[in-house]
Amino acid sequence: MSLDLERLIRPNILNLVPYRCARDEYKKGILLDSNENSFGSVLSVEQEDGQELHRYPFAYAELKKKIAKFRGIRVEQIFTGVGSDEAIDSTIRIFCSPGKESIIVTPPTFSVYKVRGDINDAKVISVPLTPDYQLNMDKLKKAITPEVKVIFICSPGNPTGVRIPREDIIELLESDYKGMVALDEAYVDFSTSPSDCDLVDKYPNLVVLQTMSKSFGLAGIRLGWAIAHPSVIDVFNKVKTPYNLSTMTAKMGMDALELVDEMHQRVKQVQQERDKLMESMRQTPEVKNVRSSEANFFLAEIEHAHEVYRMMADKGVVVQYKGKEPHCKDCLRVTVGTPEENKVLLETLKDVCKLVAEQHADDATENKTKKRKTDQ
Ligand code: PMP
Repeated sequence: MSLDLERLIRPNILNLVPYRCARDEYKKGILLDSNENSFGSVLSVEQEDGQELHRYPFAYAELKKKIAKFRGIRVEQIFTGVGSDEAIDSTIRIFCSPGKESIIVTPPTFSVYKVRGDINDAKVISVPLTPDYQLNMDKLKKAITPEVKVIFICSPGNPTGVRIPREDIIELLESDYKGMVALDEAYVDFSTSPSDCDLVDKYPNLVVLQTMSKSFGLAGIRLGWAIAHPSVIDVFNKVKTPYNLSTMTAKMGMDALELVDEMHQRVKQVQQERDKLMESMRQTPEVKNVRSSEANFFLAEIEHAHEVYRMMADKGVVVQYKGKEPHCKDCLRVTVGTPEENKVLLETLKDVCKLVAEQHADDATENKTKKRKTDQ
């Protein structure tokens, strides 16, 4: 399958002359090319791999080698960014001409796609998922026009926790749609089926987004990446700020990629805790429904969810209210905590649900009394 990049990419990006400097070609010697502080950093942090903090970072190639090994892909297929948030923004910025072109989002989904779309002045078209949180393929295909340049798909979905089948992604990639599909796999390591990032070998209009923030537990270092056809990755690299990842981020990312077994162990712990917590929630009478999940969070349907959410937060247990999203009426999104945190969560939830139910019962009695009085 060929990629008509010239037609897909914004003309100004296609013709962009990217920032280049002497350091791109010469990395050793007496380095007086980048206006760094030759007397060193005020912090005396030794970097055993020769990456000194008074120098601009240059370790991205090594980092990409490790990511490539981890995911079974090639270095040329990787763009590294400040979290996958950067890759989400770049995807829109590269392909959507402001004020002219569009993205499609499939709510309930990660709200950053719309926010970045709005910032980049892309029209944001919503095609909600089906009630069981799958792609509504007919509606999706109907919503596609020549102006649609990116379709965001989240798998496992945030907040749904539901995986989109590989066949559905392939169906979209093989349809008449000529734009990009951005497949966000932030939570893929928590899922029982593997990443679909190998599809980039066959489909040049696919960008897969991944992150170290979730399964590796490294949200604080801000490291994510996009996996795509090398010619698409070239454009991501042209558009990014010159030294987007800090030396510490690159270093910690490389260290963490040596600890993949550790990551898998943690994922197993999270999955076990998730399943236990979901079971306990199912046994809580006030919880009407707990949706199954392949992520480190899940949706729970609870009567008067917004009040419950507020009251829980006031008591120090903060979850997310998702009740305004399609097919999420009265839903709270709960991130799986440690066993101790989950114990407090369950106790607080039970107390709060009881209080809210009592309040509603009191209100109902008061209303009845008022009505009786006005009727008299
Ligand atoms: N995608 C999804 C679906 C997410 O939920 C998040 C974070 N909440 C991100 C991307 C962004 O992750 P990062 O920390 O890598 O920017």
